[in-house]
Amino acid sequence: MSIKQNLQHIKSTLPEHVTLVAVSKTKPVSDLMEAYNAGQRIFGENKIQEMADKHAEMPKDIEWHMIGHVQRNKVKYMANFVSLIHGVDSFKLLQEINKQAKKYDRTIDCLLQIKIAEEDSKFGMSVNDASTLLQSDEFSELKNIKVVGLMGMATFTDNMKQVEQEFNFLNSTFSDLKNSNPDLEIKSMGMSGDYQLAINCGSTMIRVGSSIFGVRNYNK
Ligand SMILES: *Cc1c(COP(=O)(O)O)cnc(C)c1O
Repeated sequence: MSIKQNLQHIKSTLPEHVTLVAVSKTKPVSDLMEAYNAGQRIFGENKIQEMADKHAEMPKDIEWHMIGHVQRNKVKYMANFVSLIHGVDSFKLLQEINKQAKKYDRTIDCLLQIKIAEEDSKFGMSVNDASTLLQSDEFSELKNIKVVGLMGMATFTDNMKQVEQEFNFLNSTFSDLKNSNPDLEIKSMGMSGDYQLAINCGSTMIRVGSSIFGVRNYNK
């Protein structure tokens, strides 16, 4: 199936309140343009340089989402255009995003990444750390960022019961934190293999790559 057909198929299955981020990492601009011409306007990348290059080349009505782990020294390369940063996992990173956003007189929307997986390799904050951060005075002083939700990545496993538990955990964490932080709106969870499950568990934003663009080839 073509990129356009894949997109149409996925979109036809999504409830209205769920936003589709087309994860285009490693894919050439020609593939992204196929998705763009099929109506897709939100793209997710996990490398800042690659995202900046694609942003420079492509139409300016695209929303660029940074979905990967962010190094503080690279925030400056996306601060002028990024729409949403999914993987914020420390106060220091938020401070840097705030500082760079201020230079462009912008407010950058961010999601806090919560560690929901068992694996040590997955980044993210504990619920306690996220809660403490959101209630701190230092946080309330950052005027050029806005935390608009949470992001989570489930364990890489075929055990769907476990994945479901992890998604449910993010969902209940969201509800708890939203009580004192009404700005929280977005739950970013679910990828090609598990987005239907994620939606059933309350996801409002799914990040789908290979089901749209085909498998990724990292050794080109
Ligand atoms: C690559 C990636 C995805 C998309 O993965 P697929 O399985 O190709 O849909 C989603 N989220 C993050 C954080 C990623 O790095």
